[in-house]
Amino acid sequence: MDTVKQEDIKKRIRGLAGAAGISGLGFTTAAPLEKTRRHFDEAIAEGHIPAGSVPSEKTLARLVDPAGRLKTAKTVVTACLSYHTGEPTPDDAGLGTIAPYTRANYYGELESRLAGVAAVMEEEFGATTRVSSNYVSLAEKPLAARSGLGFYGKHGIIISPGYGSFIVLGEIVTDLEVEPDEPLAMNCGECTACMKACPTGAIAKPGRVNRKVCIQYIGERRGSVPHDIREVWGARLYGCSTCQDVCPFNRDIPAAAPEAPRAYVGSAAPLADVIGIGEAGFRKRFDGNQIGMREVNVIRRNAIVAAGSSGVEALAAPLEICLNDPDPMIRGHALWALARLLGRGARGVLESALVREWDPETRREAETALDAMA
Ligand code: SF4
Ligand code: SF4
Repeated sequence: MDTVKQEDIKKRIRGLAGAAGISGLGFTTAAPLEKTRRHFDEAIAEGHIPAGSVPSEKTLARLVDPAGRLKTAKTVVTACLSYHTGEPTPDDAGLGTIAPYTRANYYGELESRLAGVAAVMEEEFGATTRVSSNYVSLAEKPLAARSGLGFYGKHGIIISPGYGSFIVLGEIVTDLEVEPDEPLAMNCGECTACMKACPTGAIAKPGRVNRKVCIQYIGERRGSVPHDIREVWGARLYGCSTCQDVCPFNRDIPAAAPEAPRAYVGSAAPLADVIGIGEAGFRKRFDGNQIGMREVNVIRRNAIVAAGSSGVEALAAPLEICLNDPDPMIRGHALWALARLLGRGARGVLESALVREWDPETRREAETALDAMA
C-alpha cells in the first residue's frame, strides 16, 4: 500500500472517530513495547507490584505485544475519550465519593464508538480489527504514548493535550498498515505536584506508582487495608484522583465527557447504604459500571473505612451490624472503624467482639484498637 493511500486511510479513520465523538486518536506500529517490558521487570524487582498481582511470564509477553491481540497486527490505532464533566466531588459528611473516571462506564462508551470505526475499517479497507478499552491483556498507556496521543505524567497516567489526564484509553489493533504518528515532545518539566499530593506517597519515582500503597489499587481488591492507609483514606468509596486533581494540565480543560453516559452512578453514595448493601442491591445500583465489576464486600469494606473517618456517629449503627457479618474482612474493618469513630466509646463493642470472635486477624483488629485506648 503506497503512502498516499495510507494518508487517505488515516484521514478517513480520523474523520470517523471525530464523528463518533472520540476525543483523540493516534497511530503507532504493532511492534512490541520493549521499554514497557523493562519497566514491568523493574517494578516487580523493586517490590512495587503486590505478590498476588505479579503477572506471569506469559501474561507479560502478551501485555507488551499487540500481536497477542491479533497475530497479523501491523498498526494500533489508539484513542481517548474525555470523562471530564466539571461535576464537583461532594464533601458532605456521610457520603462516600466516587472518582470521576468511574462515575459512568466511559470505557464502554469508548469501546462502542471504536467498534463503529472498526466496522467501517473492515468494510471499506478489508481490515481485520480487534477493539478494546481498559483491556487488561494489552498495555494501553505505552501504546498511547508511542502514538503521540499523550505523554506520561509523573503519576504514571497519560496526559493528552487539551483534555489533560481525565481520559480513558482504548485501541483498535489492526492488520492495516498505516503510517505511525510521532510521540509528543512534552513532559512534566520541574512539576512534582502529584508526587507531593499523594496521601500515601505511592508515587515512588516519576512515572512509577507503588501499587502496594496506592488507594486506587487497594480499593479495587479484597484484603486488609493497611492501618496507615486507612488513616488517610478519607471519604473515598471507590477510586482516587488526588494525583490528577492537582495536575496543572487538568486546569481549564473543557467539560468534554459524553452526555448521558452508560452506567452512570453519580459522584457519591451514602455510606450507610453501601455498608449494609446486599448482592441484589449492589447489582441494581452498580451493574454495568466498573464498581459493579468488583466484589460487593470490597466496596462495602471501602465504605466502612470511609465511615471510620467520617465523624458521623450515626454510622456506628450500620457498622455494628457488620460485626455479625459472615466475612471476617467486613468484621475486622468494622471494628477498626468503630474505634476510630467513637474512640473510647467503642471499648464495650471491642471487648464483646473479643469474646466471640474466632478469626485471628479480626481478633487482632480488636486487640490493636483496645491497646491504643489503654
Ligand atoms: S491514585 Fe491516589 S493513592 Fe494512587 S498514586 Fe494517585 S494520589 Fe496516590
Ligand atoms: S502534577 Fe505535575 S508532575 Fe504530576 S503529572 Fe501533572 S504536570 Fe506532571
